[in-house]
Amino acid sequence: MKTLNVSVVTPDGPALEGSYEMVSCRAESGELGILPDHIPLVAPLTISAVRLKKEGQTEYLAVTGGFVEVRPDHVTILAQAAEQPSDIDVDRAKQAKERAEQRMNQKAEDIDFKRAELALQRAINRIDVSEK
Ligand code: ATP
Repeated sequence: MKTLNVSVVTPDGPALEGSYEMVSCRAESGELGILPDHIPLVAPLTISAVRLKKEGQTEYLAVTGGFVEVRPDHVTILAQAAEQPSDIDVDRAKQAKERAEQRMNQKAEDIDFKRAELALQRAINRIDVSEK
């Protein structure tokens, strides 16, 4: 079966490198299912889970937005942070979620509300991916 080389890169260095049959991710414009020979594109990603499939198995990665670059034989994901389920500290994510919810409940400035909302999304995404 044809495969795609996948690289996930963060400021800390490479988070994942491998060969997969399909990559699914959530771009701001909607869900992308990428198979080998996909048309080239660059798209901004949402705070979401990336799914990587090979040999009937699916691996998950929590990403904090960023970009996906698709080439016919290669997918590169550039994100501020990317974690595999086993690397996620669930207690930390739960604490981040609570902190964000508290901030959103205070009548704060809009900019702080948006920031808290994004922190909440990152925390919820990590909790979801940790359960995969
Ligand atoms: P926190 O408030 O707990 O720091 P955050 O959403 O602000 O969460 P980020 O700025 O997205 O954190 O990430 C900073 C770094 O910490 C990244 O390297 C990221 O991979 C890591 N990180 C954040 N939360 C977790 C977690 N729950 N488990 C493992 N690594 C995490």
